[in-house]
Amino acid sequence: MLPELLQTTNLFHLLYRIDIDLAEQQRKGGCPFCGGALHYSTYQRKPRGGPALPDDLYRRLSFCCANEKCRRRTLPASTLFMDRRVYFRAVILIVTTLSQTKPQKYSKNILSRMFGADRKTINRWLKYFQDIFPRSKLWKAIRGRLSSTVPNHHQPGSLVEYFLLHNQSLENAIINCLRLLATGLQTV
Ligand SMILES: [Zn+2]
Repeated sequence: MLPELLQTTNLFHLLYRIDIDLAEQQRKGGCPFCGGALHYSTYQRKPRGGPALPDDLYRRLSFCCANEKCRRRTLPASTLFMDRRVYFRAVILIVTTLSQTKPQKYSKNILSRMFGADRKTINRWLKYFQDIFPRSKLWKAIRGRLSSTVPNHHQPGSLVEYFLLHNQSLENAIINCLRLLATGLQTV
């Protein structure tokens, strides 16, 4: 079941490993602004909604350019974090999916009690997926890699259902979906 998956530490460990791979790819490519070397400059966050995890998993992997004339910060793609939002990306994905696909069983009040996000926050996430996400470059990139049966609307629920259909386990489905949302690249 999707809600129980968010209580398994294994999911977050696997996502962290993917984030390390994504960061290493970025590091090898150098600074996107000047081509200079990238140095790790991670920072601590405290994303909500997951189980108790080791401190490493709360670190946002991040880079600082070593070129003194540049020094700009680069954020690699992340399956754990979604921009500046204070909840794990997996929590946002699963809460919005449950709200869309099983609104009777998972009312916003129930979801709010289960995951600690208030109704206003859940509504903001749903609004993002309803209004902004379908028009984003990211969705256009994802769209091109998926079957045309996945609709533009009812996101992210339709995307999650697609991955549940094409993966052996719930965990793999959510991980592959998160990777696609983080990078726009599909690896089913
Ligand atoms: Zn630079």
